[in-house]
Amino acid sequence: MRTIVHLDADAFFASVEQSADPRLRGKPVAVGGERRGIIASASYEARKFGVWTPMPTVRARKLCPKLIVLPGDFEKYERFSRWMFSYAYDFTPEVELSGIDEGYFDLTATRQPALEIAQIVRRAIGQSLKLTVSEGIGANKLVSQIASKLNKPAAFRVVPAGQETRFLHPLPNRWLPGVGAQTSARLNAAGLAQIAHVAATPLELLALLLGRAAPALRQFAHGIDERPIIPASAPAKSYSQQETFAADLTDEEYALAVLQRMADYLFAKVRAERKSVRTLTVKVRYNDMAEDQCGESLAEPTDLETDIYGRLRAMLRQAWKRRVSLRMVSLKLAQVYDGLFRAELPLETATPQPAARRRLARAVDELRQEHGAAVLLRGHDFRLRGAPDDIAPAARPVSTIVSRPSASPHVPRAASSSPSSPREERVGSNGVLMQAN
Ligand SMILES: [Mg+2]
Repeated sequence: MRTIVHLDADAFFASVEQSADPRLRGKPVAVGGERRGIIASASYEARKFGVWTPMPTVRARKLCPKLIVLPGDFEKYERFSRWMFSYAYDFTPEVELSGIDEGYFDLTATRQPALEIAQIVRRAIGQSLKLTVSEGIGANKLVSQIASKLNKPAAFRVVPAGQETRFLHPLPNRWLPGVGAQTSARLNAAGLAQIAHVAATPLELLALLLGRAAPALRQFAHGIDERPIIPASAPAKSYSQQETFAADLTDEEYALAVLQRMADYLFAKVRAERKSVRTLTVKVRYNDMAEDQCGESLAEPTDLETDIYGRLRAMLRQAWKRRVSLRMVSLKLAQVYDGLFRAELPLETATPQPAARRRLARAVDELRQEHGAAVLLRGHDFRLRGAPDDIAPAARPVSTIVSRPSASPHVPRAASSSPSSPREERVGSNGVLMQAN
């Protein structure tokens, strides 16, 4: 029997801002975008006025005229996140960050009682970082996670071993991992509103409603969850793709088009997993196999390739330092956030209407999933139809694409499908999935 603690910071972004600036403490504070922006995180003082996430900032200001709205400072949040989890590392190396402000730690093997340790950790975080966290303790990830989130903020809920189903069964089905609004509605329509109902439904019937996700969800409904803690020493989640050219390449436009096509493919995956990413790395390999790269962090995470098209050219130029032809280029997207709450934030003031661009991106994703990537071509796709400028059409390279989307989340996704790629390699991951409530 395991003892797992799930730790989840309360109103994380807003709380970090209050912690970093004492003048903000006790005041209604929100992190989000101005003008067409959306609130990404609201302090509990702001929530008393009815400010919630994701709510348009304009509306939040009407509800709470004294609201202090701050732009996101993601480097600061990532720093506080590291400090917060360092207290868990004092007791065990078995720490998994599932998000910037939440994660699991395994106290099965510790000599000190788990409840004591969990209390020490939350107290230390409260005293030194001025952040309140919620903790849930249970025999597996599922139970501990729900226990921490059920009564936020400052929750401390223990589900004793053997009490898993008693704890889970009265809860609405949406608490099951992978059950979103649509799946929940489908389950409700079938009369399976509570987790108990899902647990009592025969697998064959459940499969009709949930598809491939049915077996795992039924296990969860029975309080069974064997998912291991994946310590942070495992490679962090990222999305990447590389392309090796059959003939060495000097055509910059062509290399750029390849990178843009990679961005299309990778961001479709990012959206399919409802994530966003903050850092980009462009790598080039020369004909002598030496490599150079250029990395850049965005001010805010994004899930739109159109946000990075412009940067790719500058990054390619910076990475391509030597006047030597290329054998390979690659693009990697890392520092992965949960996309749900960031989704509607305007990312750059220069690019209005991110919501419209996102709707367009989703429509493209759907078309391509159904009919293949070639059903719809962007400008750079046309560039890729021709040969690079530096070689004769007869010698047009047949390139190999290797994709490295990191391991899919351990959570089953009801009736999901992802676009297929030429060749995929899966790499281990501890999935830094970001969520901040
Ligand atoms: Mg949180």
